[in-house]
Amino acid sequence: MSTLGYLKTNKIARYLNPIVRLGIRKYSTIFPTISILILIGVCEFVSYFVLPNPESNGLIAIFAFVAVIIYFAFRDGIKGGLIAVAGTLTYYVYIIFSRHYQAEALITGIQTVIVLGILYLVLALIIGWLKQTLDRFIEQETKARLDAEEGQMRTQTILQQLPVGILSLNAADFMIETNHQAEEILGIKDRTQLFTDETQRQSEVYKNHKKIGFEQWPIIRAVNKGEVVFGEEMEYQRRDGKMIDIRVNAAPILNKKRQIIGAVSSVMDITQEKSLEKRKNDFVNMTSHELKTPITSMKLYVDSLYKRIQQSRDERGLKMITGIKNQTERLQELVNDLLDVTRIQTGKLHFNREEFKLEELLSETVEMLQDTTQKHQILIKGKSNYKVYGDRFRIYQVITNLITNAIKYSPEGKEIIVRVKKEAQKVVISVQDFGIGISKSQQKKVFERLYQVNDSTEKTYPGLGMGLFISKEIVKRHKGSIWVEGEEGKGSTFYFTLPLKKN
Ligand code: ADP
Repeated sequence: MSTLGYLKTNKIARYLNPIVRLGIRKYSTIFPTISILILIGVCEFVSYFVLPNPESNGLIAIFAFVAVIIYFAFRDGIKGGLIAVAGTLTYYVYIIFSRHYQAEALITGIQTVIVLGILYLVLALIIGWLKQTLDRFIEQETKARLDAEEGQMRTQTILQQLPVGILSLNAADFMIETNHQAEEILGIKDRTQLFTDETQRQSEVYKNHKKIGFEQWPIIRAVNKGEVVFGEEMEYQRRDGKMIDIRVNAAPILNKKRQIIGAVSSVMDITQEKSLEKRKNDFVNMTSHELKTPITSMKLYVDSLYKRIQQSRDERGLKMITGIKNQTERLQELVNDLLDVTRIQTGKLHFNREEFKLEELLSETVEMLQDTTQKHQILIKGKSNYKVYGDRFRIYQVITNLITNAIKYSPEGKEIIVRVKKEAQKVVISVQDFGIGISKSQQKKVFERLYQVNDSTEKTYPGLGMGLFISKEIVKRHKGSIWVEGEEGKGSTFYFTLPLKKN
């Protein structure tokens, strides 16, 4: 064991060695007092029995006491130094009187004691103050270090306990820290190599079934370009060949000067979630396909029955068959919407684009929908004689959805205004109602799949939240945009744009 190591571990050494005690702010009173008394005893013993010569005796005493003052000032701070000085001066005074100095010798003795006293005092104060300042400084440093260590331990524990995989990359050397979950999910054995080893950089990462290069990995984009990535879904082929679906977030780590010093990324294994979603979509798709055929034939039978009853002038029968007809149509719309949603999700929503007259489509749709309501008045305002380019049926579907929503969500009735405005190479079509409206916070969300504004007042409106999702996809695929404005309680205006020409 090294000398320093010994000094640090040995109890007695730790108690006596002032250097080891640096940073410990416990200053003893008893130890310096007892020590100085012992030293006085030893000096007395030496002067009477070992070295009776007063001169050499005095010199040794001066050195011994100076050493003791320095030692205690350094060990026990100002307090230790002052105790040692007080002991020393008392002893010096005792010597003067016990040795019966006379006249000049007495005066010289007293003068010496005063001068030495001042010197000792200054020495004790300076060393003691220095020691206490050092102690305070070391204590602060130690505390800061312990706090940092504690913080690190806490972060480490949190990281290890998180249910997601965490990767943190250092920009300078591309070294990586991971938690246990990240290693499990990505199947990494030697994590240090993930970003530094060229073969590891070849790891198979896919986005929408296309392999992406190393520079496109979220954590690399974050560290290279400062990009913040949120909820990106990709597939990852592990070293053991297993293909998994992952959802990744990433963000750069900046220093105080806002320079990128690294990046952190979270990885979630969503393989199960994805497979469940696929199974659910397959089920919905299959069910809607299975339902479509019987509903179509039911609709045909109902239509012909309706015509027959209409001719027979059976009032009660007509009322009943009208109810059946309406419900069958509603059922057919629902199944069609379900099929559309699955088509969108599997990328199978196809369009038959052509140039057609918007005015015609609008007036036909409005006329048809006006028949479904007596409370509302649907008006077309402004010029609408434009030719637009797109899938006529799908755009009819969007307009129908917006107007039926306007009817549905303005139960008090009133007007519904359809407006058309030309803007550069596109037209903006809007549908305004004066119904319940949508709060600002919900306005973006209503276009999400299966989203329905959910508060107590809206519970009475039936629906599945598919209409706006389908409309958004149709408009997006026509290179247009769809949005809503308005205020809760005052009504909403839905807008969407369409291209005027083929582009
Ligand atoms: P659905 O009407 O079948 O629930 P949509 O996708 O058409 O589904 O609409 C989604 C949600 O947006 C609705 O549930 C409703 O809360 C809200 N919403 C749509 N249109 C309007 C409107 N004109 N006024 C108020 N809220 C609306």
